[in-house]
Amino acid sequence: MSSSEGRIPLSVPTIGGNAAAYLQACLDTNFVSSVGPFVERFEREFAERVGSRFAVACASGTAALHLALLALDIGPGDDVLVADLTFVASVNPIVYVGARPVLVDAETETYGMDPALVVAELDRRAAAGERQPAAIEVVHLLGHPMALEPVAAAAARHDVPIVEDASEALGATWTSGPYAGRSVGTIGRVGTYSFNGNKLITTGGGGMVVTDDEALARRVRHLSTQARLPGLAYDHDEVGYNYRLTNVAAALGVAQLEELDALLAARRAVAARYDEAVAELPELRPAPRAPWADSSFWLYTAALATPDAARRDAILAHLIEHGIEARPIWRPIHATRRYADATRLGGDVADRIFASAFCLPSSSSLTEADQVRVIDALRAALAATTPR
Ligand SMILES: *Cc1c(COP(=O)(O)O)cnc(C)c1O
Repeated sequence: MSSSEGRIPLSVPTIGGNAAAYLQACLDTNFVSSVGPFVERFEREFAERVGSRFAVACASGTAALHLALLALDIGPGDDVLVADLTFVASVNPIVYVGARPVLVDAETETYGMDPALVVAELDRRAAAGERQPAAIEVVHLLGHPMALEPVAAAAARHDVPIVEDASEALGATWTSGPYAGRSVGTIGRVGTYSFNGNKLITTGGGGMVVTDDEALARRVRHLSTQARLPGLAYDHDEVGYNYRLTNVAAALGVAQLEELDALLAARRAVAARYDEAVAELPELRPAPRAPWADSSFWLYTAALATPDAARRDAILAHLIEHGIEARPIWRPIHATRRYADATRLGGDVADRIFASAFCLPSSSSLTEADQVRVIDALRAALAATTPR
């Protein structure tokens, strides 16, 4: 089947470069499990790349978040403020540790958590003499940095640690302001990333915790390896987890990291071509982009100028019928069945974004011919569907 006829996926990995050689090296040396030279090398090179002192490789991005929360001693009785508009893996680890997620509405400048709501909540709790949340978990959504600066200022004032879920945004940076030139995930006390198969780089499955805090990094590493103490005779000082990344996965990670700049350039080229097309479709807008941010464009997102969930669904159905995998943006967590009763801050911004925004095929390997097919189908879908 030629590429102009086949199914066009939303986001698939591009595995190349030294991947095969490094995987072969694992087999040749019999280093396949969680002990092996590629794990340390992946951690060291990842930390260098994002500009963090320490990095600990984990079995998944979800495990990375779980370990980050555990290492911050977050548990029963604690609240964690977290973005409402995100993938559920941002929120589940809060429940794993027995804490309570407090869902914070989105804002329209970045689709990230609304910083004004966070600032108001921390100030309100302080004024009322209420206990502050144990952490603020921000999410850099779909590759775009969230507006962290006001959140960080309020968090510092009230002594609340920030956890950055940068799972979707490896490669994204700030271009101006106090964080200019810095990578998402490296501003808060701790940051996490995912190397799931659909993310920008992949290890098949995997994640990373980064921090500048040596004690925190040591604790994350300890918890990820069954909290096993040094020495031969199996002693453990707390409840640990089997969350280490394997050497085979890390070998893939090292090779993928070498390709990161090329993969980012490819995503940005895809985004630029979509931008041109979307600019000519008056009913659509590109997802917002803050002037201070350099997005990784993990998933290119477009939005109906007027929220209209029925029309969004009709457009997606049309695309899927034409072999194009497109998806709505994440369903706000409060609108999922499990979290319908969760405490929320804010209004209906995330709901309105959910009713209008959808993600288009964004693989680094997307060919120009396939992208033309997506754009043609999108144009046809708009013509074939009518506003509410
Ligand atoms: C992918 C993702 C995760 C979790 O990653 P896994 O590696 O799949 O466990 C967490 N948060 C967000 C926002 C994600 O998109």
